[in-house]
Order: sequence, then C-alpha cells, then structure tokens
Amino acid sequence: MSKIDLKGLDIDVEDVRRNMAPSTLYEEAIRDEEDAAIADSGALIAYSGEKTGRSPKDKRVVEAEQSKDDVWWGAINIPIEDYTYRINLERAKDYLNTRKKLYVIDAFAGWDPKYRLKIRVICSRPYHALFMHTMLIRPTAEELKNFGEPDVVIYNAGRFPANRHTPGMTSKTSVDVNLEDREMVILGTEYAGEMKKGVFTMMNYYMPKQGVLSMHCSATCDPDSNQSSILFGLSGTGKTTLSADPKRLLIGDDEHCWSDDGVFNIEGGCYAKAIDLTPDNEPEIFQALRFGAVLENVVYNKEDHHVDFTDTSITQNTRGAYPIEFIRNAKIPCIAGHPSDAIFLTCDAFGVLPPVSRLTPAQAMYHFISGYTAKIAGTEVGVTEPQATFSPCFGGPFLVWHPGKYAELLADKLRKHNTNVWLVNTGWTGGAHGVGSRIKLKYTRAIIDAIHSGELARASTAVDPVFGLHVVQECPGVPSELLNPKSTWQDPAQYFATASKLASLFIDNFQKYASGVSEEVRQAGPVTETSV
Ligand code: ATP
Ligand code: MN
Repeated sequence: MSKIDLKGLDIDVEDVRRNMAPSTLYEEAIRDEEDAAIADSGALIAYSGEKTGRSPKDKRVVEAEQSKDDVWWGAINIPIEDYTYRINLERAKDYLNTRKKLYVIDAFAGWDPKYRLKIRVICSRPYHALFMHTMLIRPTAEELKNFGEPDVVIYNAGRFPANRHTPGMTSKTSVDVNLEDREMVILGTEYAGEMKKGVFTMMNYYMPKQGVLSMHCSATCDPDSNQSSILFGLSGTGKTTLSADPKRLLIGDDEHCWSDDGVFNIEGGCYAKAIDLTPDNEPEIFQALRFGAVLENVVYNKEDHHVDFTDTSITQNTRGAYPIEFIRNAKIPCIAGHPSDAIFLTCDAFGVLPPVSRLTPAQAMYHFISGYTAKIAGTEVGVTEPQATFSPCFGGPFLVWHPGKYAELLADKLRKHNTNVWLVNTGWTGGAHGVGSRIKLKYTRAIIDAIHSGELARASTAVDPVFGLHVVQECPGVPSELLNPKSTWQDPAQYFATASKLASLFIDNFQKYASGVSEEVRQAGPVTETSV
C-alpha cells in the first residue's frame, strides 16, 4: 500500500494512505465505519449522516484580490473574508490531525489532458475516499507516479463542525471555495456530493477563463459519427437516466466542457438517483451498482442485504456512485465531437410545457438563462401545488461567473457548430401534479431517439400561443395527442389558466436578466394573456 507525507500541508498524521484500491477501501469501511455494509449486489452501502443533500446556503467563496471582479456575488456565491477562511482551513486541518489514519485520492478532473486539473482529496472516511476514487478520473500507475503537486486540494473535515461564532458563519456547516489558492474546505457536512460539486465549481471558474464552456449536462455520442448530444437540466430532470442509452455511447452523466475540440467529461464516474430504481426501467444503472460502487443512504434488509430502492425513510435523495466504465457502452476516454443537439430537460409539474419543442437561437438563450424546472411542494396530504424553480444555465448553484458569461459562450458555440436546440418536458402530462401523471420514460426515450436520428428536425411543428415554442407534432413511438399538452387536459380553461400562471412566473424571473440581453432574446419568452 502506498503512503504519502502531508507535512508540507501542516498535516502530521503518519498513516496517510494514498489511492487505495476499492477492495481495500471496502475493508477499511467495514472495519471503521459503524454502519457501512455490503449490499447483496456487491456495492458498498454508506451513510452521510445528518446531511443527505448539498447545503447551498452554507457555501462560501473567498473574496480575494485577483478573482474578486470575476465572481457573480449574491445568494449563490456568498463572500467570506480571507481571515475567516484561514480559521476554517485551520479548523479542518486540526480535525484531520486528530485522526490516526487519513486517506488521499489523487486523480484528475477533465478528460482532455489540455484542460484537466490534478485534484487531491484529503479525508478521514473510507466512504469519502471510495466516492472520490469513483467520481474523479482515475490515474494510471504511471500517471500517479508522476502526479507531482496537485492543482486543487480538498480538505474534507466534514465530520467536524464549523464554529458558528466565527465571523460570517451562520451554521455549523461550511463549504468554502478558495479560487486563488485552489483549495476547498468542508466542515459540518458528510454529504459526499459536496466534493464532486466543489470540483465542478472550480471548473466553472477556470474553464470559461480559457474560452471553454463548462456545463451542467450529461452527454452521449453517436457510435458512428462521434457527434455528441448534450442534455442540460436541473436535479431530477433526467440527465443521468436518459444518458444511459443503449443506442449511444456514454460520455458522462453530469458535468462536461465544450472546447474548440469538442465535448469532454469532467468526471470519471456517475452519480445516479436511486429512488424507485428498477432493473426493468433503468437496466444500465441497476447493473452498475455492483462491487466498486457506493450506495448512499439506502435502506436494506438486515438478513440478506437486499436494498429496497422504494424506501425513502432516510431521504428521497438516495444515490449510487459508480465508475463510468460500469456502463457497458461508455466511451473511454470520455471525449466526443461537437454536439449535433443540445437538449434542455425540464420536469414541468404544472403539466403545460409540451413534451418536445424546437428552440430558435433566441429561445435557446431565453430558456438557458431561465433554467426552469418544477418541484412538488411539500408532502402534506392535499398539497399538490407545484413549485417553479428557476436556476440560470440549469446549474445556478455551481456558477462562479455571471450567467451571461456562460450564455454567451453557449450562443457562440451553438452558432459555430450548427447545433439544434430542444426543450424536452420530462414532467407532467394530462394535468398538473395531483391530476395528471409523469410522462412515461419510454415516451421520453422515444423523443430523445427521434432527436438523435434527425427525424424531429424534419417533423412539422405548431407554435404554442402562450410559450411561443415550436411544438413538434409527430414523433415515432409517442401518441400524437400527448405532444400537445392542451389536448391531454380535461378542462381547456384550466389548462390556459395554469399555462398563463407559469408564463407569468417565467416573465417575473427573467426581469433580472432582461437588461443584459438583446431585444430578440427578451422577446423569446412566453406571453401572458394580458399581453397577447
Ligand atoms: P441530478 O442533477 O440530481 O443528478 P438528474 O438530472 O441526473 O439529476 P436523474 O437522476 O436522471 O436526474 O433523475 C430522473 C428521475 O426521474 C429518475 O429517478 C427517473 O427514473 C425518473 N423519471 C420518471 N419519468 C421520467 C421521464 N419521463 N424522463 C426522465 N426521467 C424520468
Ligand atoms: Mn444525475
């Protein structure tokens, strides 16, 4: 086993184990983590404790001289002073120094060697080490030997809290990103996804600086032409599910970059939602959750260690992380050509957006900046009102620059490479949540197939009077009546009322961006009844 000396980083622990193999990390986890277990499928079951999702309100970005003017400060990038950051960093190191044993993962972010970052993760839990071993790009023995100094260091002291009395801290959780020193400090949360999205945040800063667009999207590619297709969308809209597509090669499920050479994945693994997972609906993902994968916060039978994916008693956000090569048709290295298609996924719980529409360049900008999806509010009986979420670039929480920077890069690349843009609703049909139902996965898959085959680019469209979208009228494998939402609602008046309501939410949200875009983009959004 290879050990590493971290004294240069003021970490004095003697036993620091570097890039341990999954089998040995399993042994560490079973021995040292009180509730770790091995599922009957072979995946390692681990628990993240109190936090079972990210803590966006506790994310901080260090306010520093060189990057200060680059950052889009506000609710997403909340500044902390360098002084406070030093306190948190020291606290993380102090905690790590109390451990008898630590783990280091040295690995890459970004499959294109021209742009990749060398990432070092320092953590105390075998679960976190295995997670990042899975999610980052694993170096070869040779690359590891010549790794040298990392570009980014993540100090994960998540088991230990931040001090709430530190100036600028509002809770015992703090996730701090230091863009200049290229470091990240985690205190007070053991949710592993913070590390992965921390790396993404770094990429979202450094890549656009070099004219490369970083994107919250999945990607696949055509096995013959090598042309890619990118699927943007907020959490739960279907990026991971729809990228596990047996007809295409998988490039990645969540974070990609678009450079002048094409599209490359940032990660070496996938992180799938596991709620209600079945081998019938999602065979590729189901079979990937085997030895070497990590299953987070799932409930399992204590007798035979069979996982119950329907059990959400710990969290709705159960997850499985697996190396990308566990998907049979993954393309290694995860790099492909320029996208033929860009698909914006939205889970419209209002049930008024069409299952598939073609976007004009101006509409593409409008919807990219809006970044709409909806959530189902509350779990109380009778409360079925959907809640609209708008998150710029379909990935607001991870942006560092103003959304306009990413939007400009996207517009430029779409134009240059003649990429078709589509809006696909993976949400409700036949009425809003509570009345209608979620569109069947097999229909969404048929839509995605028809986009990729080129059939939808030739299909006839009709303009939606409220959203102005060019709604596709025929799609192989999808009943035509589903393609126009209005015809799936029992009460047309109810449909128009709901559509107008969503339209006005779009319009309200867009106001804050209106002054920064062209008149054409401003006009590309929905209209409310009063303005028709
Ligand atoms: P995250 O950014 O959190 O990783 P994601 O965009 O990758 O989110 P998925 O993990 O793909 O989201 O989640 C989509 C969920 O919705 C899955 O559980 C999938 O089974 C379910 N689903 C149901 N119907 C559909 C549909 N028509 N299209 C896509 N997904 C669907
Ligand atoms: Mn995903």
